[in-house]
Amino acid sequence: MNTIPAGQPNTLVIELKNVSKVYGTGPAATHALRGIDLGISPGEFVAVMGPSGSGKSTCMNILGCLDTPTSGTYVFQGLDVGTLSRNQRALLRRHALGFVFQGFNLLNRTSALENVELPLLYRGASGGERRAQARQTLAAVGLTGWESHTPGELSGGQQQRVAIARAIVCNPAVLFADEPTGNLDSAMSLEIMALLTALNDERGITVIMVTHEREMARFARRIVYFRDGRIDSDGLARIIHEERVNIPGLPEQHRFPLAAGGCVAMSGPDTRPASRGRGAVSRCTGDA
Ligand code: ADP
Ligand code: MG
Repeated sequence: MNTIPAGQPNTLVIELKNVSKVYGTGPAATHALRGIDLGISPGEFVAVMGPSGSGKSTCMNILGCLDTPTSGTYVFQGLDVGTLSRNQRALLRRHALGFVFQGFNLLNRTSALENVELPLLYRGASGGERRAQARQTLAAVGLTGWESHTPGELSGGQQQRVAIARAIVCNPAVLFADEPTGNLDSAMSLEIMALLTALNDERGITVIMVTHEREMARFARRIVYFRDGRIDSDGLARIIHEERVNIPGLPEQHRFPLAAGGCVAMSGPDTRPASRGRGAVSRCTGDA
């Protein structure tokens, strides 16, 4: 079957119910996840932290429909992902999810524009449509003028921007980022965090990000801490919106990256929770 059935109405975009994952069997079995319960609302920015081997990537792979749990239920936008075929899960990935990785994962001898066009190609968009949309998305991440450059001609921060453009070009509901600043120096890391923050604030994209660094986690609103395959703590990030857009050390030109080429028009329903601050948007448009 090549369509995704409609989900039941659900206020959560993501819900894990008693999810476990066991790799291997018998004495060699590894219990990577031991009964995870997790609910994420549309528009949240969640940082996932925890020691190496605590189950972060396993959990992200399940959330990203790249892997399936051994037991328990994963509900995405009201849809029980466990009832979907492999094809349907691939469709769900293509239509509703975006991925950003530590190593950028761009095609090397391919221009920034073509890298960003790729997901649209898989979706069957026409050439003209693809180019226009990819161009617009590169502009939104501050890369106007860099369209024809290959990854080797771009800095690490710029490559990660291309990867983010590729991840959001199909307007995903959720953006997964696994250590997105792991290969970047601190200035570039802040630049990428400012961009993820702006996408979350201004477009209402739900962001779920694995990071080892407290410095990066504080951009999130909520931090879920894994330990030994369980959620050890789950709470609000210490800094609130107004503070996080004024992070000391963040260069002025990187504070509101979407404002660089004029504010990007928001499309789709505003899924932000009512409590969400609008600081970045109002400053971005100049009407304080
Ligand atoms: P983290 O991302 O927090 O470092 P992982 O989710 O990668 O943790 O790993 C959790 C546990 O599951 C670890 O003990 C790891 O060795 C094990 N594990 C992860 N992936 C596999 C796999 N494909 N096969 C076997 N064991 C795995
Ligand atoms: Mg990992």
